[in-house]
Amino acid sequence: MGGKNRRRNPLNSREITMQVGVIGCGTAGPAAAILLARRGHRVQLFDQAAELKPLGAGLLLQPTGMAVLEQLGVLDELMRLGSRVERLLGTDPHGRPVLDVRYADLRTDLFGLGLHRGALFSALHGEAVRAGVEIRSGVAAASFEERADSVSFRDRGGREHGPFDLLLIADGARSSLRDQFGGVRRCDRYPWGALWFVAEDSEGQFAGVLRQVYRGTSGMIGFLPSGRATPDGPNTVSVFWSVPMADVERIREEGLEAWKARVRALTPLAEPVLSQIRSFDQLIVAGYHDVVVRRVGSGRVALLGDCAHAMSPQLGQGANLALLDAAALDRALAESSDVASVTWAYDAARRTSTRYYQFASRWLTPVFQSGMNWITPLRDCLLPIGLRLPIGRSMALTSLVGVRRGLLRSEPVPVLGRPE
Ligand SMILES: Cc1cc2nc3c(=O)[nH]c(=O)nc-3n(C[C@H](O)[C@H](O)[C@H](O)COP(=O)(O)OP(=O)(O)OC[C@H]3O[C@@H](n4cnc5c(N)ncnc54)[C@H](O)[C@@H]3O)c2cc1C
Repeated sequence: MGGKNRRRNPLNSREITMQVGVIGCGTAGPAAAILLARRGHRVQLFDQAAELKPLGAGLLLQPTGMAVLEQLGVLDELMRLGSRVERLLGTDPHGRPVLDVRYADLRTDLFGLGLHRGALFSALHGEAVRAGVEIRSGVAAASFEERADSVSFRDRGGREHGPFDLLLIADGARSSLRDQFGGVRRCDRYPWGALWFVAEDSEGQFAGVLRQVYRGTSGMIGFLPSGRATPDGPNTVSVFWSVPMADVERIREEGLEAWKARVRALTPLAEPVLSQIRSFDQLIVAGYHDVVVRRVGSGRVALLGDCAHAMSPQLGQGANLALLDAAALDRALAESSDVASVTWAYDAARRTSTRYYQFASRWLTPVFQSGMNWITPLRDCLLPIGLRLPIGRSMALTSLVGVRRGLLRSEPVPVLGRPE
C-alpha cells in the first residue's frame, strides 16, 4: 500500500491508483469516498461508531449541495424522500415578517431540499458500498503520521492503519486530529444551541416553507419540513427551539409542561408538534462550534466538512459545504496525480467561499440567537427593508444557495440535470 504500492489506474491510464484513507462517515467522508472510489482509487472509510447510524434531526440542503448529490447519483432517491422548501419565512409572534425570501426570486427553478438525516445517511452509505469503498466501523482515530512517501493513522487502541497516499480527515466539529494538522485559528463553542425534535407531519401542514418565529433574539422556534427517513416512513417536520446551552439543565428540571407553555406562548403553530412530545428525552440537544483553520489541505492530508469549518446552522450551510468540499477534492484529483498538488489545489479552491460562510454565520447568529435583545427593533425594521432592495435580496439569496465567494463575488448557481 501507500507510495510503494502505487500502480496504474485501470480506469484512466494517465492516473495513478492511490490508497486513500478517510476518517469519519458523516456527510463529507462518504461523499468524498464515493467520488474517489469511482475514479478507481482504493478507498477505506473509518468511523469510531461501532454501529454506523445517523445522528440528529433534519437539515436543509441548498441547490449547490443538491448538484453534488446528483454527481454522487443519489439525488433522485433523496428528492423522493425529502421535502421541497420554496421559501424561508421568519416572523415576530404577531406574524409580521422579519425575514422572507423565496428561492424563485433568484431563479424560478430553485428550491431547497429538507431532508431527514436518516435519508441522507442511507443514501450516502449505500452508494459508498456500491462504489466499492471499504467501510470499517469501530475505529477511532487518535493521531496520524505523515512521511515523505505515505501517511498513516493510529487508532485509540494504538493500532496503525495505512499506509495511504492520501488521508482525508472528516471527523466532524469535535475533530481529534485537527490540532495535529495545525493552523487552528479558532475553535469556540457557541453559547446558544437548540432543542430539536423530529415530529410526524402526515398532513403536510408544514410543507414548502422553513418557518421561524422570533421573540427578540432570545426566543426562536423553527419548523423545517424534513421529508421521510425511509420510503415507508412518515412525513416529518424538524422543530428547533433556541436555548442558551447553560440553561438546558434548568429547563429540564422545570419540567416538560413548563417548557411547552413557553413554546405555546411564542406561537400556536407548535401545537401539533407539542402533542407528540411526551418526555424530555425525546428532545435532541444540539450545540454548535465555530471552527476556523488556516488551511484545509497540505502535503498528504486534507480536512473536510465540520472538522475544517464547523459553524452555527443559522445559514443552513454545514452539510452543504461538506458536500462541496468532497466535490472540490474530487476535481483537484482529476487534475493532478501528485498528492501535494491535489491538496494545495483543494485548499485554494475552498478557501474564499468557506471564509465567507464562516464570517456570515458568525455575525448573523447573534442577530437571531443571543441575549442581545436590544438589537431586535433594528433587525425587525432594517431586515425587511434590506430584503426588498434588489441588492439585499440578491445577496441574501446567493448566500443561501451556497454560491457566494466573498462579499463582492458569487458563482453561477448550478442547473440540476446538467452536470458540469
Ligand atoms: C442542530 C443542527 C442543525 C443543522 N442544520 C443544518 C442544515 O439545515 N443544513 C446544513 O447544510 N447543515 C446543517 N447542520 C450542519 C451539518 O449537520 C454538519 O455541517 C454536517 O453534518 C457535517 O458533516 P461532517 O461529515 O463534516 O461531520 P459529521 O456529520 O459530524 O460526521 C463526522 C463523523 O466522524 C466520526 N468521527 C468523529 N471522530 C472520529 C474519530 N476520532 N475517528 C473516527 N471517526 C470519528 C463521527 O462518528 C461521525 O460519523 C446542522 C448542524 C446541527 C448541529
